[in-house]
Amino acid sequence: MSKQFFMPTKVVMGNACILANSVLMAEMGKKALIVTGTNSAKKNGSLEDVISALKSNLQAYVIYDKVMANPTIECAYEGAAFAKENKVDFVIAIGGGSPMDAAKAIALLAKQDIPEENLFSYSYTSDVLPMAFVPTTAGTGSEVTQYSILTNHKAETKTSIASPFLFPKLAFLDAKYMAGLSYSTTINTAIDALSHSVEGMLSIRSNTITDSLALESIQLIASCFESLKLQTLTEKQRESLLYASTLGGMVIANTGTTAVHSMGYSLTYFKDIDHGRANGLLLAAFLAFVAESCPERIKTILASMELKNVDEFSKVMNGLLGEKETLTDNEIEKYVKLAMKTKNISNCTTIPKEEDLCKTFKVSFHKKGD
Ligand code: NAP
Ligand code: FE
Repeated sequence: MSKQFFMPTKVVMGNACILANSVLMAEMGKKALIVTGTNSAKKNGSLEDVISALKSNLQAYVIYDKVMANPTIECAYEGAAFAKENKVDFVIAIGGGSPMDAAKAIALLAKQDIPEENLFSYSYTSDVLPMAFVPTTAGTGSEVTQYSILTNHKAETKTSIASPFLFPKLAFLDAKYMAGLSYSTTINTAIDALSHSVEGMLSIRSNTITDSLALESIQLIASCFESLKLQTLTEKQRESLLYASTLGGMVIANTGTTAVHSMGYSLTYFKDIDHGRANGLLLAAFLAFVAESCPERIKTILASMELKNVDEFSKVMNGLLGEKETLTDNEIEKYVKLAMKTKNISNCTTIPKEEDLCKTFKVSFHKKGD
C-alpha cells in the first residue's frame, strides 16, 4: 500500500510573529472576518496583534466572537451568514480548537450553499475563503489540519467535515498568548496533542514522515509532564507544547485519529468532559489493548516518553487527570455502539471489536476497590 504526506499550510513561528509577518496577510484580501471565542482573545493580546497587523496592511475587518466550546452546526451557519452579509474576503481564526474549527466551516459555507443534510457529504469544491489561524491553546493542531469538528445534535456526537480545501493557508504560532491559560485547559489540550501523535502512530495511514513528527511531538510533551503536574511550566515549555501540538496536527492531517477519539466524542457529548481530557481518560487502556497485538509499536511510543510499560504511562496520566468521572454500564454500552459506527475504527492498526472498546471504557473508569 502506498502512503502519502501533505501539508500545504505555511507555519510562521516565534515571539511577535504576527506583527513581524503581517505582510503575509496582505495578499489575502481587503476585508477579514475574525472568528473567535467570547473572551480569551480579547485578554491575551492575540486579537490586538491581529488587528494591528490588519491596520498596518490597511485591511478592514469585522469580528464574529460567538464561538462556544465544541461549536455547533448552527454556529457555523450563523457565522457564514455574517461573513456573507459583510462581504469579507478571508477569515482569521483566533483561539482554541473551537473557534478554529468553526472558522473552517464558516469559510466553506460563506462560499458554498450546502444544506445542513449534506454538510458532512464530503463533496465540496475548492471555493472556500482563504484562512489564517492563530492558535491560543496548544492541543488540537487545527491550524494545520483539514478537519472542522462540529457538535452534531442529530447524530448525538461530534462529526467532522474533512476536505483538503479546509487547510488554512497560514498559521501563526506565538506561545505568549498562552501565558495565562488555566492549568486545567493547558493539561487537557496537551493531552489532546499527545493523543493525536500517539493515535497517528497507531493508524493504518502512519508512515515514516508522520512517525518522525509524532515521536518528536510525544517527546516534547513528555518533557513537560512533571511541570504540567506541578503547574510550573516555563515560557520555553509553553513554546514546546505549542510546537508539539502543531506537529500532532500535521500527523493527524495525514493519518486521521483512531478509536480513542471516537470513544472520547461520547464523553464530551453526553458527559460534557473536555475533548483532550476525554481522550486522556481512554488512552492508557487503549495502548494496553494494542500492546497485545503490536508490543513493539507500543514500546517505541513509550520509549519516546522514557517509560517502560503501559502501567507507567497510566500512572503519569492519572497524575495529570486527577479524580475521574464515573460511567454506568448502560452508558458504556451506548458509547461503544456509537464509536463502532465511526470510520476511525477501521483506521486502527489493530481493529477493535465491540468487546475491546467495552473493556477499554471499563479499565479506564475502573475505580480502586471496584
Ligand atoms: P476550546 O474549546 O477552543 O477553548 C477552551 C477554553 O479555553 C475556552 O473557554 C476559551 O475561551 C479558553 N481559551 C482559549 N485560549 C485561551 C488563552 N490563550 N488563554 C485563556 N483562555 C483561553 O478548546 P480546545 O481544546 O483548544 O479545542 C477543542 C475543540 O477542538 C473541540 O471541539 C475538538 O473537537 C476540536 N478539535 C479539532 C481538531 C482538528 O483537527 N480540527 C483536533 C482535535 C480537537 P474563549 O471561548 O473565550 O476563547
Ligand atoms: Fe483531538
